[in-house]
Amino acid sequence: MTEIKNPLQTLTAHIERAEKKTHRPRKSVTLLAVSKTWPADELRKLAVQGQHCFGENYLQEALTKITALADLNLEWHFIGPIQSNKTRDIACNFDWVQSIDRIKIARRLSAQRPVERDVLNVCIQVNIDDEASKSGVKSDDVLALAEQISQLDHLQLRGIMVIPEKTSDPQQQHASFQKAQQLFSQLVTLYPSVDTLSMGMSADMDSAIAQGSTMVRIGTALFGQRHTPASK
Ligand SMILES: *Cc1c(COP(=O)(O)O)cnc(C)c1O
Repeated sequence: MTEIKNPLQTLTAHIERAEKKTHRPRKSVTLLAVSKTWPADELRKLAVQGQHCFGENYLQEALTKITALADLNLEWHFIGPIQSNKTRDIACNFDWVQSIDRIKIARRLSAQRPVERDVLNVCIQVNIDDEASKSGVKSDDVLALAEQISQLDHLQLRGIMVIPEKTSDPQQQHASFQKAQQLFSQLVTLYPSVDTLSMGMSADMDSAIAQGSTMVRIGTALFGQRHTPASK
């Protein structure tokens, strides 16, 4: 009898093959399940199958799920744009924030992190292709921001998060990922806490893994097409 794999098993096997093909150690790439727009029950199904890390873009929607799934001890990553009046709820409820793009937000998160919780893990979101309308800091400004963040008591700088420009040109995609990898390597030599290159989504994870990604953020390939627009 052939075993029919569920999407999580299929994706995990896919990531393992990509690691192997590019001579990366097994489990060197973490799978972040990007669950925006999906109800708590869908996340619970994946959690029961062993998925531990979940990424959310919209605060109110995320808080509902964090509450509903509190019994599961999941790891929650905030990956959406951050307004400064939302930092307290983010600091109180998440384990990671991957979308830091200015020092003001980092300072607020550090100040508002509850003392009884571990430090908040953070990544700097880098606008790796310098797109006009994209969030994230310019590559040239990453080192200065990293230096400021490294001085904050309740944050731990873990690395960078990138969303490259949409392109069908594999060479351009390769160049973007390579730029991100170089920036990441630079940070690794400067800060012992840095170990995370968050790069790769459903459509481009193979190339991202080949270029050193340590965390892929996958929505569609895990949950299917999003039907409902994400709520704010
Ligand atoms: C939605 C989203 C993803 C997941 O994208 P898919 O193409 O559905 O895999 C990853 N990262 C960020 C920042 C997102 O907003």
